[in-house]
Amino acid sequence: MNKKLSLSLFLGLFFFVSLFCQTSAKAEKEGFVSVSQLNYEIFYAPENLRPGQALVVALRSLRVKSETLDQNPLKMNFIEREFSLRKLGDGWQGVAAVPLGTRPGSYKLSIKFKDGAGLVLPITVFAHDYGEQRLTVPKEMATPMLPENLKKINRDRQNLRRIYASSGTALLLDEEVRPPLASKITSPFGLRRLFNGKPRAPHGGIDFRAAVGVPIVAAAKGRVALAEELYYSGNLVIIDHGLDIFTLYMHLDKISCCPGDIVHPGQIIGTVGSSGRVTGPHLHWGVKVAGVFVDPLRFVTDSKHLLELPWEVEKWQK
Ligand SMILES: [Zn+2]
Repeated sequence: MNKKLSLSLFLGLFFFVSLFCQTSAKAEKEGFVSVSQLNYEIFYAPENLRPGQALVVALRSLRVKSETLDQNPLKMNFIEREFSLRKLGDGWQGVAAVPLGTRPGSYKLSIKFKDGAGLVLPITVFAHDYGEQRLTVPKEMATPMLPENLKKINRDRQNLRRIYASSGTALLLDEEVRPPLASKITSPFGLRRLFNGKPRAPHGGIDFRAAVGVPIVAAAKGRVALAEELYYSGNLVIIDHGLDIFTLYMHLDKISCCPGDIVHPGQIIGTVGSSGRVTGPHLHWGVKVAGVFVDPLRFVTDSKHLLELPWEVEKWQK
């Protein structure tokens, strides 16, 4: 074989291998997609992402530890939002989310490092039609006009902004999220809604039918971040599960927890009621990930990806 031919064969093989390394996707652990890029192994789940869903991302360096000390990822960006990362084993983990109303298509997930380097990964968001709902509520509830109500709504908004900015990078959640009530769902997540014929925000959670007084339990371990009455939500409990993951329990009759309490999965936090903007007694359950409402039932499944290491530990020990 002449030199030229063997060189082009070598380059061809190199090109093929590097192409393969960039795009190969294999299921390392159930549900995760794995991609190698530069010296990193990146894992994400789920593979079929839709608007109103969370995306769990984990990565680790394939180099020896000492070389990667300055390579700690700082943050992750996805669909014009920034998400935090936490240490997970010998790597890092973060959870991003796709807002409702995001157009289907390919988006870039970027991870930036301290030394300025970065990884960019294409992630597809698939279309999903959540349907539409028309509701009739008292006029002052659909379009508040009274100054004292507008003042309260404004105060609530500031209060919520402060709460949602208070989560740390530690993950308190230590089991899969579970629904807070075993009951029929009367209104699913994501519905485009019209109140008295006027378009309003899509349904950011799910509604469970239940009678006043039925106990509601915490969906997962967390710290009670808010337990008080808000104009739209009525008696509201918000639990912070860490890493910018919150669960919300609205329209309660009684609240039986206090801000700062550490609650465990299955622990009673209040009872079903009809406080706030409602048409009857029910529980509205919401899950907010880094400022984005996600489908709570999807998050019941997706939350398990937060609890497992996507890679085999033995690889590091060799
Ligand atoms: Zn609702």
